[in-house]
Amino acid sequence: MKNLLFFDLDDTLLDHAGAEARAQRETFSAFGELFGALSFGEWLGAYRQANVRLWTAYGRAEIGREELHRRRFADPLSSFGLDAGAAEEVGAAYLERYRRAWRLNDGAEELLAAAAELGEVGILSNGFRELQRAKIARFGLERWVRHVVLSEEVGAMKPARAIFDAAVRAACGEEGVDGRRKLYLGDHFETDVLGARAAGWFPVLYNPGRGALPAPVVHVARLTDAIPLLA
Ligand SMILES: [Mg+2]
Repeated sequence: MKNLLFFDLDDTLLDHAGAEARAQRETFSAFGELFGALSFGEWLGAYRQANVRLWTAYGRAEIGREELHRRRFADPLSSFGLDAGAAEEVGAAYLERYRRAWRLNDGAEELLAAAAELGEVGILSNGFRELQRAKIARFGLERWVRHVVLSEEVGAMKPARAIFDAAVRAACGEEGVDGRRKLYLGDHFETDVLGARAAGWFPVLYNPGRGALPAPVVHVARLTDAIPLLA
């Protein structure tokens, strides 16, 4: 029986934060009149803060995805006294640029190729279905990835155990995991490491910035450093 080797997508296999920053900078320039005297740094900080807050509310099913999409632009625009009515147009322009800015992180393909030799490979991700599926298609990750488990499709978000259990069911069927090793690699301590650990997976933290760890966990600074951990 093959080991289950599952990976986070955003900021693990794919440089989401870089794509977000590039797309936000381009959008900020394209809508210069709207943003007025605001600096890009102020805008990006406020956008990211709003985005995190709204994702939390979305994860608790307090708001829907349309509201999240609109308000992550509308809320920071209002907070700076700018025209929140432009949120939809700006949001659409941003998403178009975000899609163009996607890049894989260094070593992502090498890691997946090695994982596919050693086990059954999956992607387990919070995030919007069309975007996550489009990322997988853009980079041809289905060459190695057999299972794609997305929060929007499962109806639960990491760190909830339900999404990790859905990954086990996707790979093993209803009979369960029967002694296979389950490894999950992701970049977020709470959602990825603590979520995976609580669901009975072996967590590995991708920590490229070598940030301080809140608690002990196996961690790697480069994706290819995780290859020896897969077997
Ligand atoms: Mg991530």
